[in-house]
Amino acid sequence: MKRLVLAGGGHAHLAVLSALARRPLKGVEVTLVTPASKQAYSGMLPGWIAGHYTRPEIEIDLESLARRADVTLLQDSIGAMDANSRCVALSDRRQLDYDVLSLDVGSEIDTSWLETLGERLLPLRPLGDFLERWPGILARARDRAGFQVAVVGAGAAGIEVALAVRHAFDRERINGKVYLVAPRDKFLAGHGPGARRRAADWVRRAGVERHVGHAVGTREGLLLPDGGTIPVDRVIAATGAAPPCWLQLSGLRLDEQGYVAVDSYHRSVSHNDVFAAGDVCSREDRHFARSGVHAVRAGPVLAANLAAVVTGGTLREYRPRRRSLYLLACGPRNAIVSWGHLSAGGKWAWRWKDWIDRGFVGRHSVAPAAL
Ligand SMILES: Cc1cc2nc3c(=O)[nH]c(=O)nc-3n(C[C@H](O)[C@H](O)[C@H](O)COP(=O)(O)OP(=O)(O)OC[C@H]3O[C@@H](n4cnc5c(N)ncnc54)[C@H](O)[C@@H]3O)c2cc1C
Repeated sequence: MKRLVLAGGGHAHLAVLSALARRPLKGVEVTLVTPASKQAYSGMLPGWIAGHYTRPEIEIDLESLARRADVTLLQDSIGAMDANSRCVALSDRRQLDYDVLSLDVGSEIDTSWLETLGERLLPLRPLGDFLERWPGILARARDRAGFQVAVVGAGAAGIEVALAVRHAFDRERINGKVYLVAPRDKFLAGHGPGARRRAADWVRRAGVERHVGHAVGTREGLLLPDGGTIPVDRVIAATGAAPPCWLQLSGLRLDEQGYVAVDSYHRSVSHNDVFAAGDVCSREDRHFARSGVHAVRAGPVLAANLAAVVTGGTLREYRPRRRSLYLLACGPRNAIVSWGHLSAGGKWAWRWKDWIDRGFVGRHSVAPAAL
């Protein structure tokens, strides 16, 4: 029996689990290691905060997917790995040996300059922790007039979340303030000027107070570059991706930021029995953004390559498209379309996004009869 270990239940591994359900690999024992049996779909998180979705509507049941694919699910986290000895260590230091390892553990959020905020700090990742904590915070905001939430980081996720929080406050008539804090050049970086303008308009019209610059967490609140302080009740950190720190001692070749360096087959450039897809990796041959779009699209290629490497087939390349479509939720049922330098927006865009997102979660739901 060969041992294939799937680390993390991210976007790309959903495609791997679906492929295994369709075409089981003979003579291969597959294990999925995931800290949670359900995976929230990040694209729908802002809609959940805004109150458009319930939690079950945005969650994918990894346990059912694993059962359907005859994959053993280990509910645990990988805390270390040794690529030279072909093993990963779980949180209780148990060791799991593999013949082939596939990493889809996503990225983390670097909150080092906000840590002084203590309990007031709420990172967007892990998504599961955010989902657990947010309802309690909203309940406190209902009870306390003038509740202040700051979102630090104005990439797509930060903007969507700030608008979603503002919408949730308005919908529930919560007397609270929402801030969005980020350096000017980071505001929807990587998107065209039209999309950035639309997003800035939404932020202004929604009444989210925007502060430009790099903020730091202090005991008193959020220290702004002009010396002022926002006395926040909660700070949502949407400060961009950071690699999992346990990769540092893994023995894998990493890029200069600490992500797993992979080739066009999404195979580690240093260890040919390790594959990686999604936010955790970095392609050596070309650069493209860390996004759910690429994690999803790389999924079927990863599935084919894992099958090829254990059964002796030919590897496939993942060729990212030149432009990706992004649909940004704007609080109420409205969205911005961003595609290269083109942008558009409106209620129709929200309906489009809603259809795509529900479709994605629906495709990864298993009817009880299929188990
Ligand atoms: C609010 C928000 C909205 C977003 N919207 C979009 C969007 O509209 N479009 C888009 O393209 N991108 C979007 N993104 C970015 C997108 O979420 C990420 O790029 C994407 O999730 C990366 O997918 P992944 O498969 O690499 O990892 P993830 O989807 O993050 O999955 C990683 C999995 O690994 C598990 N895991 C983590 N650590 C370990 C460990 N040590 N051991 C075992 N398992 C582990 C996690 O529990 C998780 O299940 C958004 C992000 C956020 C936060």
